Amino acid sequence: MNFPRSRIVRWGAVLACLACIMLLAAPTWAAHVLYDNQGRRLEVQIGPEFSQPAREQVTAWTEQLAHSLTLVYGHWPRERWLIEVAAASGSSDDPIPWAQVSRGKVDRVTFYVVRNPDTGALLREWTGYHEIAHLLLPYRGWGDTWFSEGLATYYQNLLQARAGLISEQQMWQRLYEGFVRGRNDTRFDGSTLLEVNRQMRSQGGYMRVYWSGAWYFLAADIQLRERSNGRRSLDDALLKLNQCCARNALSVPEIIRKMDADDQAGMFHELYERLRNSRTLPDVTPLFASLGIAVLNGRVQLQAEGAAAERRQQFLRSTVL
Ligand SMILES: [Zn+2]
Repeated sequence: MNFPRSRIVRWGAVLACLACIMLLAAPTWAAHVLYDNQGRRLEVQIGPEFSQPAREQVTAWTEQLAHSLTLVYGHWPRERWLIEVAAASGSSDDPIPWAQVSRGKVDRVTFYVVRNPDTGALLREWTGYHEIAHLLLPYRGWGDTWFSEGLATYYQNLLQARAGLISEQQMWQRLYEGFVRGRNDTRFDGSTLLEVNRQMRSQGGYMRVYWSGAWYFLAADIQLRERSNGRRSLDDALLKLNQCCARNALSVPEIIRKMDADDQAGMFHELYERLRNSRTLPDVTPLFASLGIAVLNGRVQLQAEGAAAERRQQFLRSTVL
């Protein structure tokens, strides 16, 4: 049947209009852009499944995360990066069931967040700080994962304390409890960290691996601060690494060579050899003692005064800023 031409045109217009309305009504990803004080650019993309109030909560949380990442060396690690927040099913007391970092021309951190998150729970959730702390290293993403996970595990606590979300006492308590979990993960004691790390995804041993890495960075940070009488720390070493190599994808031995090249007398390498060949997680007691931290009945006791206490309190602020 042949419609009069005018009728065809009218139907075409109606169909086009319907498509237009459907497109407008379809939920879309919300994107907004943030800049740090050096003009570095972060794009935040939030999935269409979130309600408007949930988007606002997620937005506030991502801004808090982004801010905390500037508290290591003053700016974000890359000129451009992306946070993507996709909806996940789960309960609000575990608001981020999954997250991952994808490195490339623009580094991307993807968070899977429950649809109706509680802002307070999101802000307190360690996963967010852990994932963004991964970006502090220009790591290629594979090999010696204990090193990369250790840095993120260590800095996730420093970032939260520096951002004022937890107290100094809470920060050391969390670190202490993490080291205890690592020490209690005894299933592979006797095997080197390197061996445990290689089979971690199939066999387990995550706590031993992650907290051995955190021990490495706490020990390195203490040594850097002691040698420079508090003027320099791991913050400076990471800034130097960022300045030379932010765009690179380095292996851990390459990262260590770069960090030691800045007059560390081989400290990073020496600790690296010690940890990767360790057959159990080293004791944190001497490290804590050097910072005026004792432990009584599982609770950290912070010495209030003296050189060790002063050194410890300096962890709450970057030595670069
Ligand atoms: Zn991680």
